[in-house]
Amino acid sequence: MKKKTSYQLADIFTCTRCGYCCQGETTVSLDTEDQERMIAKLGLTRQEVAEKYWRVTGKVVQMKIVDKHCIFYTEETGCTVHEGRPWRCGQWPLHPSMLADKNNFLTIRDSCPGINKELRWEKFCHILQQLLDQEEKLIC
Ligand code: SF4
Ligand code: SF4
Repeated sequence: MKKKTSYQLADIFTCTRCGYCCQGETTVSLDTEDQERMIAKLGLTRQEVAEKYWRVTGKVVQMKIVDKHCIFYTEETGCTVHEGRPWRCGQWPLHPSMLADKNNFLTIRDSCPGINKELRWEKFCHILQQLLDQEEKLIC
């Protein structure tokens, strides 16, 4: 049975929709479930989605980059495939690696303005762990 916690996601993170996490030269990888979810959301065939939106390298499927950001990102809307986005996009920035390594926490905190900057690492980890105990695949 999952533990209940009185903590809320908003205690440690509130997305400002700045879009920084959708920028860069590469994106997260899509697992099989991500691929199916994205295909369903876009209402296209697998081949159409792959040709238009994916960068496939061997078995690794990522999203294409356009103008140094994910192909689905626009300044006006943010993520235009929101319900069909990869689960790792939904997980960001609350990556469990922050629990094990303070440097990971500091790096991620510096790159994401949505993280509550008033919390020390120990307190942040305490709350994040409680939330993860309740929901293993925590989606922000
Ligand atoms: S997750 Fe962080 S970096 Fe990404 S849009 Fe939200 S506040 Fe910005
Ligand atoms: S799928 Fe959406 S959330 Fe993920 S990188 Fe692209 S625009 Fe950002």
